[in-house]
Amino acid sequence: MRWGLIGASTIADEWMIAAIRANGGEVVALASGAQKHAAQLAKKHGIAHVVNAGGDGNGLADLFAHNLDAVYISSINDRHRDQLRQAAAAGCHVLCEKPLAVNLADAKAMIVAAAEAGVKFATNHHLRFAATHQAIRERIDRGDIGEPRSARVFHAVALPPHLQGWRIDNPAAGGGVVLDIAVHNCDLLAFLLGEYPRAVASMSDAKTLGQGVEDDCMSVWRYPSGVLAYTHESFVTPHAGHGVEVHGNEGSLIGEQVMSQKAIGRVFLQRDGEREEIPTTPRNLYEAGIADFVKAIKTGGKPSCDGVAGTRSLAVALAVLESAAEGKVVEVDYGGFDA
Ligand code: NDP
Repeated sequence: MRWGLIGASTIADEWMIAAIRANGGEVVALASGAQKHAAQLAKKHGIAHVVNAGGDGNGLADLFAHNLDAVYISSINDRHRDQLRQAAAAGCHVLCEKPLAVNLADAKAMIVAAAEAGVKFATNHHLRFAATHQAIRERIDRGDIGEPRSARVFHAVALPPHLQGWRIDNPAAGGGVVLDIAVHNCDLLAFLLGEYPRAVASMSDAKTLGQGVEDDCMSVWRYPSGVLAYTHESFVTPHAGHGVEVHGNEGSLIGEQVMSQKAIGRVFLQRDGEREEIPTTPRNLYEAGIADFVKAIKTGGKPSCDGVAGTRSLAVALAVLESAAEGKVVEVDYGGFDA
């Protein structure tokens, strides 16, 4: 498959170019408004063509002239909508970064644009592709913990210095820890529990990094089944470690160090005072995500994490922001894409 990249981003550099190639994809061209940086990135990765996307990132016609099958969008969040619209209109399947957009209307417009163009649209929520999380889900599905009653997500880390740009000071670009990380937490719990929260109650803070956006947030989410989930997302919590826990009436599943881009972490089943490790075979999360997307294109099926899933995780993150701002419990508005 012939791929174009939209955005000369860190995630493309560190993970996605290699993941596309690991799936047999050819990275044909890179479109960016940051020409010098894009040229360096293209040279580093042996990408033959760099397209000047202009200051607003929307000058993409020269990219689509390369006869592409798919694009990967990893620009800043407020550019995703218009870039996806253009890519879909050019007949390209689209893998788009999370959060899909900075508001629900834009995400919905993206779903409509992809559907009208008849192209596949996937959201790059990588955690559901981890062997650890798949093992947790398998054990939930086979009844090892009985009926799930609660969950806890610890996704509180230190934002690395090289990512301390728009994430910490640009609300218009979708900065802040909630749009950055709560969307992942939501998608992961949806994958594990098979449902999305109905209501959220949240508090957030700007401790040391956030300038006009939050850098720390805690929430409680209530699910239709009655499950309560607690989530903590943070840019300013360097020593906590990360993980997910799902607690049922007959056991608990514990994932330690599993909220990572890397294929790391361990999973345990706890029952009756005993702790048993569940073996997993680590695999690259992003490669698995691309494989799923490519399979959907080739078979005409649905990507595991499609545009609707990305829209729902955005809807939950927006509810978290509203709850923290207003100091009240907020019912999640899925904009018509209710689970
Ligand atoms: P970066 O901050 O690295 O890059 C964002 C944009 O900034 C680039 O697309 C580029 O603009 C411009 N840029 C980047 N580096 C430079 C530079 N050195 N000089 C000039 N301009 C530069 O973005 P991230 O990789 O951190 O995030 C990109 C997207 O991916 C976001 O939507 C984010 O939420 C998502 N993401 C997803 C992850 C996941 O696991 N699914 C993990 C990390 C990020 P231009 O677009 O014009 O090329």
